[in-house]
Amino acid sequence: MPVWDDLVGQERIQAQLAAAARDADALVTATTAGTAPPETSKMTHAWLFTGPPGSGRTTAARAFAAALQCTSPDRALGGEPGCGFCDGCHTTMVGTHADVSTVVAVGSQILVADMRDTVRKSYTSPATGRWQIILVEDAERLNEKSANAVLKAVEEPAPRTVWLLCSPSVEDVLPTIRSRCRHLNLNTPSIAAVADMLVRRDGIEPTVALTAARVTQGHVDRARRLATDEAARERRATVLKLPLRVDDIGACLKAAQELVDAAAEDAKQVADEVDTKETEELRAALGAGAGAGSRMPRGTAGVMKELEDRQKRRRTRTQRDTLEVALTDLTGFYRDVLALQLGSSVAIANEEIRHDLDRIARASGPERTLRRIEAIIACRDSLDRNVAPLLAVEAMTMALRAG
Ligand SMILES: [Zn+2]
Repeated sequence: MPVWDDLVGQERIQAQLAAAARDADALVTATTAGTAPPETSKMTHAWLFTGPPGSGRTTAARAFAAALQCTSPDRALGGEPGCGFCDGCHTTMVGTHADVSTVVAVGSQILVADMRDTVRKSYTSPATGRWQIILVEDAERLNEKSANAVLKAVEEPAPRTVWLLCSPSVEDVLPTIRSRCRHLNLNTPSIAAVADMLVRRDGIEPTVALTAARVTQGHVDRARRLATDEAARERRATVLKLPLRVDDIGACLKAAQELVDAAAEDAKQVADEVDTKETEELRAALGAGAGAGSRMPRGTAGVMKELEDRQKRRRTRTQRDTLEVALTDLTGFYRDVLALQLGSSVAIANEEIRHDLDRIARASGPERTLRRIEAIIACRDSLDRNVAPLLAVEAMTMALRAG
């Protein structure tokens, strides 16, 4: 069925979800009629989707949500759920269905305040849809308080509520939450499968699609972005030049500054697009006059402050995400260098810069390369611990230095 089209190389998971969506109907019927639910059902109230970044765990969860909300008339005739075209499917896929709430970490954590409305909603019946669905895109970012709020809600779900939690691995989620969920693990799709999807779904030229899939090592979203976005390709090319530039301290500090500036610029672009509109909407909703300078009604300062905090956290998060992509690209570069140094026959991801890889591989040994990869991992850890980005990145570029 069309709702599953964006899933790449996950046939087994897709079959399980489709079966659950079919069985879900009988549960809805039993609940609304007040009769006993069927004894064997492949449907359940809480699901945990895990898999490495880019494997499509959120895509799978969203497709499942759409199949659950599918209202296609064909279904009365025994058709499969997930037509992709009915109102239920469509609004779920584009994120506007009234009974599908999506939770995304705004900053490095999902705060209990971010979850408050959603948890409250989870105890209610769906307004128009068949199910009340809560999709938590990055459940690994739930902190202690927000995780406990989710745990309570998952322990006693309303009859037609479904929780869909996504995280990189099961270890990222509280064991008590995990034990309430049906667990599905997605694998990284093959490079060929990702390339094929880019050709089929996005009309990308086959050689471009294959390159994008190969250099991103099967990360679906990043492959699509690279294949379709010129700016993303340029940014990546700049990052991959970095190992050739860092030959003295001055160059290291300069490279670090540029990397951090580029990420900040990216965050600013996102903020410019979203923040202004969001602020204006809230001001209007609170009854303020038009224009940024007009007075706010009494008692609304707290709400405005909450929005400002949220926007600040989102800017930090976007900057970190962009840096994260750069670090992944750099790791890929040195992984290729290591493969060359060890004479490994594993396919080189960055074939198009073979010349640069060779140069670095000849100028150093595998031990040095491993230490460089460790420095990149250390930088990522520092960013996770909220070390100032410039400090973390400088420490890394210094460790990547030639010689
Ligand atoms: Zn549908």
